Amino acid sequence: MSSPYQSIVIIGGGVIGSAIAYFLTMQQPGSNVTVVERDPSYARASSALSASSIRQQFSTDINIEISAYGIGFLRNVGTLLACDGDVPDIGLHEGGYLYLATPTGEATLCENHALQRQHGADVALLGPAQLAERFPWLALQDVALGSLGLSGEGWFDGYLLLTALRKKAQSQGVRYVADEAVGFDMVASDGVQHVNAVRLQSGAVLPCRYAVNAGGPWAATVAAWAGIGLPVVGKRRTVFHLASPATLPGCPLLIDTSGIWLRPEGRGFICGFAPDAGNDADFAPLEPEYAAFEERIWPTLAERIPGFEALRMQGAWAGYYEMNTFDHNAIVGLHSACDNLVFANGFSGHGLQQCPAVGRGLAELMLTGQYQTLDLSPLSIERIGRNAPLREKNVI
Ligand SMILES: Cc1cc2nc3c(=O)[nH]c(=O)nc-3n(C[C@H](O)[C@H](O)[C@H](O)COP(=O)(O)OP(=O)(O)OC[C@H]3O[C@@H](n4cnc5c(N)ncnc54)[C@H](O)[C@@H]3O)c2cc1C
Repeated sequence: MSSPYQSIVIIGGGVIGSAIAYFLTMQQPGSNVTVVERDPSYARASSALSASSIRQQFSTDINIEISAYGIGFLRNVGTLLACDGDVPDIGLHEGGYLYLATPTGEATLCENHALQRQHGADVALLGPAQLAERFPWLALQDVALGSLGLSGEGWFDGYLLLTALRKKAQSQGVRYVADEAVGFDMVASDGVQHVNAVRLQSGAVLPCRYAVNAGGPWAATVAAWAGIGLPVVGKRRTVFHLASPATLPGCPLLIDTSGIWLRPEGRGFICGFAPDAGNDADFAPLEPEYAAFEERIWPTLAERIPGFEALRMQGAWAGYYEMNTFDHNAIVGLHSACDNLVFANGFSGHGLQQCPAVGRGLAELMLTGQYQTLDLSPLSIERIGRNAPLREKNVI
């Protein structure tokens, strides 16, 4: 069904919605794009509460290819998103990720490494002796192998990326509306739905050629307006800010065998963990899980990094992972039941690093009818209907 309208309405102005808006108006200047964002302060948005890191060490082709493009984009943000003489600096630090594996996890690390190397990722496997030489502050008694990103991995200021994308998109003509989308005006033909317009809380109605669901953790509500079930929920994740007299030269983003992660931040560190399934309610209040620090994180880190005996927690914050409970991977593109509702959801903790490739790909899809550069169809929502999960082994 073709639409009489030209405009594209994006629901949600976090990094995903803003990246799509930026790429739409970059690829086709003059495109009519509106972003509807109910909270321009982004107080609860994942994009503002993130650990803002990027890695190449994924276990699926598509995620590795997405990251390869992502790091190139992040390296060039100063040029790509320069605006009115303002050259954004997101402070990208390519400190690498270091995955540690026990003997049980060694084979998986090797398998992942082979796939990552096939895609040209700059990663190296290090045995205990090499690890000890490079990171003498690590205790390695239970470690069989480590996988280290030598370049292309690290961390940056995610909030700055969001504001730079938004500002650049606005300079290219994108309109941001501070309002809440509350529903769709739909029509149907031959059993296929079509979104005619997006209705807003203020009473405004925005006719659209495409509507884009970039609602982050709240994306399932938007999908439900089109009668589509989306297995995406908000899962609280706490980030702890730490101070320690110990310095850890060359400290990468460390993924411990326990699943706890740690990386440098300013003069201290930040770290986090994944709660056990039984203690991981949907949309738990965004209160940090302070108890987990004493009970779980501090003992584990002090064992892994003996210099951390005198570790102090300085503070903590919590945000939602927009968790795809089906297979922990992004859900991207159109659904066969609705010909103009575009999904960009379920990033499950990877959305900041994936926003450049997904923004570019979805802009291509809407402007030309297909992906032109990187084929994002492995992330299509249809895999849910086919019960064909895309398994990512490296979920943090
Ligand atoms: C603790 C933590 C650590 C993370 N670490 C990393 C990391 O290291 N690397 C990485 O790549 N990713 C990481 N992530 C994930 C990453 O932050 C997210 O994947 C990404 O920010 C998702 O962006 P988004 O735009 O989809 O969602 P959001 O930033 O949540 O934006 C969605 C926006 O939609 C708006 N919205 C929703 N519904 C409506 C509506 N009906 N009307 C109007 N507006 C609406 C909301 O107000 C919100 O601003 C982390 C996330 C958390 C919480």
